[in-house]
Amino acid sequence: MSLSGKKDKKIRIINHRHCRICGKAIPPDKELCSAECEGVQAKIEARQKRMKNVMLVMYAVIFLVFLIMLLIGGSR
Ligand SMILES: [Zn+2]
Repeated sequence: MSLSGKKDKKIRIINHRHCRICGKAIPPDKELCSAECEGVQAKIEARQKRMKNVMLVMYAVIFLVFLIMLLIGGSR
């Protein structure tokens, strides 16, 4: 409850939000305007998650190759 004073100030500035998908004005307690946009958002998040995994694997491979090259170079 100690944060309620600060929260009030913020709410006065941000008294509404915009749908993250289509940009429509929506109530501040919502993130998206409709089930349709929720579906789009879920798709985007799934893609981002997959991209993150791909990036992680790529970094791991690059790191391993770098490490192997370093080991080969160091043994000479
Ligand atoms: Zn929307």
